[in-house]
Amino acid sequence: MSKTIAINAGSSSLKWQLFEMPEEKVIAKGIVERIGLKDSIFTIKYGEGQKYNDVLDINDHEFAIHMLLEKMTELHIIESFDEIEGAGHRIVAGGEFFKTSAKIDEEAIQKIEALAEFAPLHNPAEAKVIRVFEKLLPKTTNVAVFDTSFHTTMPAVNYLYSIPMEYYEKHKARKYGAHGTSHRYVSERAADMLGKPIEELKIVTCHLGNGASITAVDGGKSIDTSMGFTPLAGVTMGTRSGDIDASVLPYIMDKEGITDIKEMVNILNKKSGLLGISGISSDMREVESADTEEAKLAVEIFNNRVQKYIGSYVAAMNGVDAIVFTAGIGENAIETRRDIINGISWFGCEIDDEKNNVRGEERVISTDDSKVKVLLIPTDEEVMIARDVEELK
Ligand code: ADP
Repeated sequence: MSKTIAINAGSSSLKWQLFEMPEEKVIAKGIVERIGLKDSIFTIKYGEGQKYNDVLDINDHEFAIHMLLEKMTELHIIESFDEIEGAGHRIVAGGEFFKTSAKIDEEAIQKIEALAEFAPLHNPAEAKVIRVFEKLLPKTTNVAVFDTSFHTTMPAVNYLYSIPMEYYEKHKARKYGAHGTSHRYVSERAADMLGKPIEELKIVTCHLGNGASITAVDGGKSIDTSMGFTPLAGVTMGTRSGDIDASVLPYIMDKEGITDIKEMVNILNKKSGLLGISGISSDMREVESADTEEAKLAVEIFNNRVQKYIGSYVAAMNGVDAIVFTAGIGENAIETRRDIINGISWFGCEIDDEKNNVRGEERVISTDDSKVKVLLIPTDEEVMIARDVEELK
């Protein structure tokens, strides 16, 4: 029995879960928000519904982790730092280099830092957190788990853009995808639930959260995914546009007097999607409950883009055995799941309205007769990270 911590570090936040392994039991979890800002929020949940909260200025990730370890000891979640034998770190960009999760050494950290070009807001912060762990917990094995690794099995025919080949050859400009850990987890769970070897299954996994991506998983391998060089591509998201004709960018810039392409890309990342169309919110709950034409259109466009990706992946795999819904919207939005599946019933999938009338519970939500099974599987990226640590340490 040992303890493993799964770390998800953002530029100003740090989410974590502490597991008892190999039982995969969550002993404690928490989040540090607003790191580097005034009034950072520090929360730990542990035991039988116990909670510790604090609001104080946490200037950097090092202080956040230091405080986390001290508090866990104080609250007797751990008795000494040594109990944490493994730490798994979620890393956004692994490029073409990291095809699987990796045990950390100096070379790996430098590689993660070098990949900052592909994820400037994330990789540097994540690499910094690994270095802090090495300093504060010198005996702990650190493992990096990449959002992109699961998609490194994509064939060139799917990861290459139709642009001059030299941009790929010289600069590695290609599709990398994201949410890999989630797509991997739910596709494996789907195979378990269907009682079939994953090698024999064609699955479309729909991770529909604030960020959303669809993946074609053929025989357990990602063969295509909707996000691209960055998480901006693919379906309509909370604030991201998803796929768009690049020519519209200089057109809008010209008309709006925007001179910096970065500002334009920022609009596509932060002010578009559900928020941009509805003008109300990036949050699906708020958009669904708003009674305006634009809000209704936003939901319709979201469903439409998801349906089109599912359709194209059924075509790409020449078949489909299961469609999986996960993440905030996929796990909770009953009508969204129903409407998406009802609109593509030609593929042989039929939703069971009674079974579908549930939030956040793992189950089959298609009818018994449905040729293609539709599954609701709450994602668990943290347990996947802990499993990878267990395997590599
Ligand atoms: P993130 O990508 O930030 O991790 P989540 O996976 O938590 O996002 O998903 C957040 C999205 O899930 C939001 O759009 C939110 O409105 C949506 N969501 C959560 N609960 C519901 C619900 N009951 N009905 C519809 N949408 C929901």
